[in-house]
This record gives sequence, structure tokens and C-alpha cells, in this order.
Amino acid sequence: MEYPQAVAQVTHPASNLEWETPLYAQAATQLAHALELAEVPDFVATRLAHPERAVILTLPVRLDDGSYASFPAYRVQHSSVLGPTKGGIRYDMAVDLGECAALAMWMTWKCALLRLPYGGAKGGVRCNARELSMPELSRITRRFTAELAPFIGPQLDIPAPDMATNEQTMAWMMDTYSMQKGYAVPEIVTGKPISIGGSVFRHEATGAGVVMVIERACGRLGWNLSEQRCVVQGFGNVGGIAATELYEHGARVVGVADISGGVHAEGGLDIPSLHAYVAEHGSLEGYETGVERVSNEELLELDCDILVLAAREDQVRGDNAANLHCKLLVEGANGPTSVEGDRILADRGIPVLPDILTNAGGVTVSYFEWVQDLGRLFWDRDEIRRRLADKMSDAFDRVWSVSEERGISLRDAALVAAIREVSGALEARGVYP
Ligand code: NAD
Repeated sequence: MEYPQAVAQVTHPASNLEWETPLYAQAATQLAHALELAEVPDFVATRLAHPERAVILTLPVRLDDGSYASFPAYRVQHSSVLGPTKGGIRYDMAVDLGECAALAMWMTWKCALLRLPYGGAKGGVRCNARELSMPELSRITRRFTAELAPFIGPQLDIPAPDMATNEQTMAWMMDTYSMQKGYAVPEIVTGKPISIGGSVFRHEATGAGVVMVIERACGRLGWNLSEQRCVVQGFGNVGGIAATELYEHGARVVGVADISGGVHAEGGLDIPSLHAYVAEHGSLEGYETGVERVSNEELLELDCDILVLAAREDQVRGDNAANLHCKLLVEGANGPTSVEGDRILADRGIPVLPDILTNAGGVTVSYFEWVQDLGRLFWDRDEIRRRLADKMSDAFDRVWSVSEERGISLRDAALVAAIREVSGALEARGVYP
């Protein structure tokens, strides 16, 4: 596999390491490029080029028909320099070690950029959550948590929801961990139900944060958000909330899609009605009222001002970046733009609001949740929304300044700012022993 030279040099001279998949190469290429700009010591680059720890498991789980299946599962911890590691758990057929390693590295940059006292982690189970019953998902989650127990903890590694996992998944994780400890440990996970120590506004935080960043970017670009035509790919936690926030800000949302395909209406979609439909039917499939059905590929190429990618990685690539018709690309998902896609968009002068900045609202409110759990003292919605807006604006302004001062892309600026935060800590601590 093609592997970025700058990173390859600081690692293994001959063979590829186990996590070196195309998505990991994307994260490593971004890092290698940012390291050229960040001016940090060589030992920092060496340490940050790879995860600190990776756990590979197979989970034996009894299915509802009485048979047993074995599910591959992973947890990767990229950096513990700034504090415990933090990152989501996803249930998806594409989960593998390389994907978790790439996402864990992005989490390190995201936490550092937002100045949260965490490093990055990511994990998941390779399964198709839509084909599993709730009791089966519960057994998978509980077995996964029990197997991970030596490697996670409130001061060690704190999971959160990601694709196809949610508040219920986190409740099962919290309960399983607590049963093993013998007392309730709400601070072991974030994104859990409010009744067991979850935070108000955590559910909305990522999508709301995406729109806070869009609003700030519109301010810098001299645009009025309420006059923009927007397309949102993904209608789950991030995309669904982002679409609602855009709609409530008065922007015209002309297209949305989920895994079943997309809907388009030039006059603007009725977002509350789409949510009601999805709540009843499980997806957008079959929604026909006043809309034109489009495929996911067509949705990305719709004429619009702002395109929000909030589904999954690798959506804008070398083969379709030239066909996009947006003026601003917004990464609500992690890693939705490939390195080649990024290059084409840069050549076309389309700015990209990068994932490690734009979708950081989730981990920021997760941090607030953890702090509240540790202190056993809870804040109200207005306070959390205000603190989130402060954090997102501060990070956005730092990224925008670095981008302007250095004449580099917003992605490079975000990575440079984040790497410097981690580097400062690593230089102060040194490499043990
Ligand atoms: P989710 O499972 O709630 O929603 C995912 C949505 O994307 C669903 O509507 C699904 O149908 C759709 N989708 C999946 N594959 C698709 C495809 N090929 N084409 C179009 N739509 C597709 O997941 P989520 O929590 O909203 O996460 C979405 C992305 O945001 C992921 O990349 C995740 O890592 C990232 N993210 C999530 C959070 C969070 O707090 N949930 C925080 C930061 C980043």
C-alpha cells in the first residue's frame, strides 16, 4: 500500500503495521502534511504517527434463534498525553482496526483543538445493527464492555455513541461496567440517558455545533445563513439535528439523504415532517410528498450553497469532487473527504470546514457530561449551550487565524493548531522513561 513517506520514515522501516488500511493512510497523510507545517520536534512526530494501544476481540454472542455468532470488535487508543482517551463506539459492517485507528487519531486532534483534557480513541463491533434485535444488541454491547473492562475507565478511556449506537447502548455499557465494580459509575461513558447521569443537550450537541461553526464561517465569508440553500447527507444524530438547526435558522434545506436515498425540493424541505416520517418508518424510504427522489450520488451533486456531509467517511473523492456544486463543504461526519477530494476542492476554491473542528460539539458536551458526573452537579440546557458556543467559537477563530496568517487550508490550520497543543504537552512531559 502507498504509505506517506514522512510518516513511514518515523515508523517501521520495512513492513506495514496491522492498522494500515486506506482510511488510516488518509489520516496519516493528513498528519504527515500538517507536520511539515507545524514545526514540532521529531520525537513528537514519531510518537503521534501511531496509536498507543489497540485491542482486538471476538465476541461470542447468542442470537435470538438460539445459535451463536462471533463478532469482531476493536478499541484503539491513540494518545493519552493530554488525559484519558475519549471516542465513540460504532456498530457497522465496515468496522476494522484501520478505521478505528484513523478515527482515534482524528479524535486526538479534535480534543486538542477544542482544548479538552483528553486524547483520542475509537472502537466498534463489526455487525449490521439494523438486522439485530434489541436483546441481541444488548448482549453484544454487554459482552464487549466486559471484555473491554481492563482497558476503559473514567480516568483511562471513556466511550461514547457513534454510528448505529445511541443512549441505550451507552446505558448498557454503563450498567455492565457498574455491575463489575459493584457501584454506579456514570462517568464511564458519555452520551447516556439523562436519568443515569447523561447531560441535557448532549443528544443535540454535534449537530448544533456543526451549525454554530457554519454560522461563524458565514460571518467571515460575509454571507447571511438564512439566505443559504443547504444540502445535508445523513439524517441520523448529526445530520438530522443539523438539518433541523439550519431549518430553524431560516436557511432553505433543499436536499437530505439517509442510507435509503435522498429527497430534493428546490423550494425547501419540510424538515419536521421528514423527522416525523423517519420516526414512524425508520428511514426516508418511501417519502414522496412534494419531493423528488434522488440517489445519494445525485444528492452530493445538487446545486446548493452549503453541503453538509453527516453520514460517513469517504463520500467526496477524486471521482466525484469535480462534480460538486456547493460553495462551502461542511464535514459533520468524520473523514468524509478523501485526500484527493480535498485537493480537487482546493483547486476549485471551495473551502472545507474540517471534521476535527466542525463536529467537535459532541465530544465537547461529552466533556461537560463527564465533568458533571465527576462533580455530581448538573448544569441546565442554556448554560451548556452557551459554554458549547464559547468553545466552538474560540476554536473556529483560532483555526481561521492560522489559516489566514499562514495561507493554508482550514484543514491544515486545524491540524497544525491541534498538533501544537499535543506537542506542547508531550515536550513538557517527555517520553518515559
Ligand atoms: P447515525 O447512525 O445516527 O446516522 C448516520 C446517518 O447516515 C443515518 O441517517 C444513515 O442512514 C446515514 N447513512 C449511512 N450510510 C450512508 C450512505 N452511504 N449514504 C447516505 N447516508 C448514509 O450516526 P451519527 O452519530 O449521526 O454519525 C454520523 C457521522 O458523524 C459519523 O461519521 C460519525 O463518526 C460522526 N460523528 C458523530 C458524532 C455524534 O455525536 N454522534 C460526533 C462526531 C462525529
